Amino acid sequence: MPGFASSGDQKRPVRLLTAALSSGNLPHALLFTGIEGIGKKTTAMAFAMACNCFNLHEGYQTKQPDAEITEPTHIEPCGQCRSCKKIISGNHPDIILLQPSGAMIKVDQIRALCSKLVLKPYEASKRFVIITDAQKLNLEAGNTLLKTLEEPPEHTVFILTALQAADILPTIVSRCQQIRFNPIPFHSLQTYIEKNHGLGASDASVIASMSQGSFTRAESMMKPTWINKRNWIIDELEALPTRSINLCLAFSEVLSKNKGWLLPAFEIMKNWFRDIVIYNYAPERIINKDLSAQINIAAKKTTINVLILKIKAIDKAEREINANSNIRLTLDSLMLTLSKG
Ligand SMILES: [Zn+2]
Repeated sequence: MPGFASSGDQKRPVRLLTAALSSGNLPHALLFTGIEGIGKKTTAMAFAMACNCFNLHEGYQTKQPDAEITEPTHIEPCGQCRSCKKIISGNHPDIILLQPSGAMIKVDQIRALCSKLVLKPYEASKRFVIITDAQKLNLEAGNTLLKTLEEPPEHTVFILTALQAADILPTIVSRCQQIRFNPIPFHSLQTYIEKNHGLGASDASVIASMSQGSFTRAESMMKPTWINKRNWIIDELEALPTRSINLCLAFSEVLSKNKGWLLPAFEIMKNWFRDIVIYNYAPERIINKDLSAQINIAAKKTTINVLILKIKAIDKAEREINANSNIRLTLDSLMLTLSKG
């Protein structure tokens, strides 16, 4: 599904971009900001496609997945013409995608880009330069890019994407029109998960809640074992107060060996205790909706004060590990705190 329809229901950005296209008044440089995995790059590609499509047509965005749609809300590229097909296959010579090489975007990458921009576009009416993760421009690369932005080449639109404008050189930001992207609405994400991964409404709802509006987070949870891992972590957490110290430390040992899983595991733990806190007041707001019976039982066995202490202890462990403290020692200490009933 090429075009704006794949942008994850980013209504406002799509409206602003298609209005600029309709008016024929395209900005030289745009900065798309927002958390990872919410369709910034996809929308940039859709915009490049729309600006060069030979057969633009009307498109629709809906409030709810099953809501009736009557009025077109924006314009869409066709996805079928020569230009669209080249962009979709990544073979359009005038749609230039620049991504970090390793941890940074280096000055050599920007210099190579600038030497291409001296020439006229090969075939596009509008050439696009899409720079993703622009917060990774190092200082030299940023300053080199700035010179180009100050004297922009003809028929060229720059789109930078970043988590937030504050991470980028202010002189670059001031050259760009900023468009903020919001997290994907819950229902859009749930529908996406149901359609693309064949999950039932209940499981899709849990994944959509936990991914906090990010396609990328949802995708990483979608690996078939995610629900199993969540269940395992929650079962272990609930068993901790009845376990010997050795068994509590065994849990932290297993977690410490799966470093890629540590941050998701912390999220799962905090969401679990948070669900127990709010269950008695607002049961409709729990995240682990499929576990409401288990949450009900857990809520009867503890107090809010104990739960808040546990959530704070997880936050503290997370901060310490992010600051490079010893993972095993931090987790051991956390498990001993969480084992107090
Ligand atoms: Zn087209």
